Amino acid sequence: MTSRKQCVGLLPIGDIPDIILKTISAHILGYYNLDSVILEARDYPEYAFDHRRLQFDAAAIIERLESDTLQGCTKIIGVIDSDIFHPVFTHVFGEARQEGKCALVSVKRLKKNPDGSLPPLSVVLERVAKVALHELGHLFSLVHCLEDHCLMRFAGSLEGLDGLRLSFCKYCAALLREALGPS
Ligand SMILES: [Zn+2]
Ligand SMILES: [Zn+2]
Repeated sequence: MTSRKQCVGLLPIGDIPDIILKTISAHILGYYNLDSVILEARDYPEYAFDHRRLQFDAAAIIERLESDTLQGCTKIIGVIDSDIFHPVFTHVFGEARQEGKCALVSVKRLKKNPDGSLPPLSVVLERVAKVALHELGHLFSLVHCLEDHCLMRFAGSLEGLDGLRLSFCKYCAALLREALGPS
């Protein structure tokens, strides 16, 4: 086995089912050709809780994670089962610092359909994979894309997210290959 220069750490924050972390890990290997490790779970980030909004501040969590060494991982994806927000949106499915080290994915709203019904697990896992691959794209310097269905298209609603294909358009795929370098 060849050694790879990058390793993605998956950091459960609170109680995250293994199947979710393993699904993200498999998709990172498949789409980015990068190994990932599942890190030891963290407690809920009380420091980032906004008592007025009753949500966690995504940027505050990312900032804290970035100041951590986190076992030699070059990129970190935190996974949380609580609502997270960005000041200009009511909620977000994920957040990443552009070209940064850390991203955050919230599974909370991915587990319910817009009509309140519960989707099958396969649908939840596909949504989680899409958000994780999208946020990791930002860490590798991809920006939002206007191509229909591309994974880097901004999706602010579940309908939008479900409408994306589980693939990057040819432009984003080319930029990603460049950012990742020879494997
Ligand atoms: Zn984005
Ligand atoms: Zn694209």
